[in-house]
Amino acid sequence: MSPNQALIQALAQIRDDVRAAHAYPVASSAGMVKLDVMENPFRLSPELQAQLGQRLGAVAINRYPAEGTQRLAAALAAYAGMPAGCAITLGNGSDELITLLSMAVSKPGACVLSPEPSFVMYEMSARYQGLKYVGVPLREDFELDGPALLAAIHLHQPALIYLAYPNNPTGNLWDEALVEQIIQAAPGLVVMDEAYQPFAERDSMALLARYPQLLLMRTMSKFGLAGVRIGYLIGQQALVAEVDKLRPPFNISVLNAEAGLFALEHAEVYAAQAAELRAQRETLFKALQAMPGVQPFPSQGNMILTRVPDAPATFAALKARGVLVKNSSAAHPLLRNCLRITVGTVDENQALLAALKESLA
Ligand code: PMP
Repeated sequence: MSPNQALIQALAQIRDDVRAAHAYPVASSAGMVKLDVMENPFRLSPELQAQLGQRLGAVAINRYPAEGTQRLAAALAAYAGMPAGCAITLGNGSDELITLLSMAVSKPGACVLSPEPSFVMYEMSARYQGLKYVGVPLREDFELDGPALLAAIHLHQPALIYLAYPNNPTGNLWDEALVEQIIQAAPGLVVMDEAYQPFAERDSMALLARYPQLLLMRTMSKFGLAGVRIGYLIGQQALVAEVDKLRPPFNISVLNAEAGLFALEHAEVYAAQAAELRAQRETLFKALQAMPGVQPFPSQGNMILTRVPDAPATFAALKARGVLVKNSSAAHPLLRNCLRITVGTVDENQALLAALKESLA
């Protein structure tokens, strides 16, 4: 057999849906004002960066991860205020936890449900595990469509429901009473994805004590460690233990665990950064609102979804001026002509506003 034929044969073993799919896009951003993926724009101070370097330098990288991961899990549980009776497990980013959750419920015919538009990995991950995915459109004002959601839950009996809280890309929180109605109606697991919790005025930790089917997912990414890859899942011990069985045993590297612990020891630095970004969000929102033809939507995250007259053209014009945002326009009919703008530093936000003004002229 020729090498070419061998390759064709090998590729033929790959699932048709995987071969037809596209990899998760990561935009190239070298040298740009990077406001596309809700990163924290602040680096550590040189002093803290040097201290972190020393800590990482002392880590034994010849051993598989062990106690460091457990210490990080305990530190995150304490930081988040994990209620009694609950347990925590860690993922290589919450992306990995989403994969584990899909695996955990992937019985034949099972279904995952989420309002949409929301975080794309819920659907991608469900489909890769052979699950049915049901997306229930939000209302035009991006609020949950309560009657449609409850009807879809009744009809499809989803094994797993995701509620991003605040939502990505719309940035809003859901009505608390409706969230509880959804949890009560759910025949299976409900995951509140609180990736943007550092920027939001409320969270759902208190609901864990009332609803054993509820899991809370958070990440250190938006906190300021997107490059380190640490997500965590908190819920009833029995439920978390099942998800944990599917976790690759050494998914958190010794370096990640040490960096995560270091960051939590300096939680006040990150809290100050989150406060600064919340303040900048309000300043940016007002500036966007004052621009003719521009409609920003109120946000509880570190991004502002913004409608402009022609999003693809504005996206390209911003890019040509060195400013990278996310063009969400094509992702969902409700997002027509919407750009998702991450809140950056004062200078980055000024650069965005100046480029936007030129782009719309
Ligand atoms: N959940 C939501 C709602 C997100 O927007 C994202 C990333 N943007 C994630 C989870 C994944 O975050 P990570 O894998 O970095 O923890």
